[in-house]
Amino acid sequence: MPELPEVETVRKGLISLVKGKTIAKVDVYWPRIIEFPEIEIFQQQLIGETIETVDRRGKYLIFHFTHYEMVSHLRMEGKYEYFDQPRPLDKHSHVRFIFTDGTELIYHDVRKFGRMALLKKGMAKEYKGLLQLGPEPIDEDFDLLNFKQQLKKSSTMIKPLLLNQKIVAGLGNIYVDEVLWLAKIHPEQPADTLSAQTVRRLRVAIIEVIAKAKEAGGTTIRTYLNALGEAGHFQQELHVYGQTGIPCSRCGTPIIKIKVAQRGTHLCPHCQKLKKV
Ligand SMILES: [Zn+2]
Repeated sequence: MPELPEVETVRKGLISLVKGKTIAKVDVYWPRIIEFPEIEIFQQQLIGETIETVDRRGKYLIFHFTHYEMVSHLRMEGKYEYFDQPRPLDKHSHVRFIFTDGTELIYHDVRKFGRMALLKKGMAKEYKGLLQLGPEPIDEDFDLLNFKQQLKKSSTMIKPLLLNQKIVAGLGNIYVDEVLWLAKIHPEQPADTLSAQTVRRLRVAIIEVIAKAKEAGGTTIRTYLNALGEAGHFQQELHVYGQTGIPCSRCGTPIIKIKVAQRGTHLCPHCQKLKKV
């Protein structure tokens, strides 16, 4: 599943390949991918629109067209593929954007969970998923005091709380495990039991892990190749995710895997002890 660093890699790829291109035609083969408006309107409104740029918020891509903005979420396995010339589609190709120069951008999604929504220019920020999103995990946006207050309000276990995107955007299962290992926090620790010092350490760990993963182009695990054919290489820097049985790089204790809120969770049982408060 693409997380923030992988989506950032997709965004950069899209900018290099389709920025400035104008849409001649849009084909939709799996209607549910288009959240709104209705398919015919979606197709019609995009004709003649030029891609001015592509932004990202959390795990959402935002295409800026001449008169519209398109919010696109890849969910589990969505990806964009770019082709210089038309070529046969496969059964997982669900949306095809054909540009006036004959090139194409195909949205491919094996699981079909991805979604696109087209809004008037300037309205993407009002899209429900974006309204609920916490700050970007970067120093300038991610305020310590606000983070502290949010955690104090919740007795939820820290891992699922960080996964819900409302307190901070962009963390998925891979990076949340890495972040909690780096900050030495047990994934089941209730948020409101974290000390001020631990919260400070957690914020720094979130910023650091995401920045490093972005720089590495994300993590390539199993079937998920970054869209546009690029593979990231952060998997070489993982300390706990997928490392079950391997000695912790900090203390040598074998990494274990448990379930936390139905998600496979990796941790070092020595570095990340559940603290009774
Ligand atoms: Zn350890």
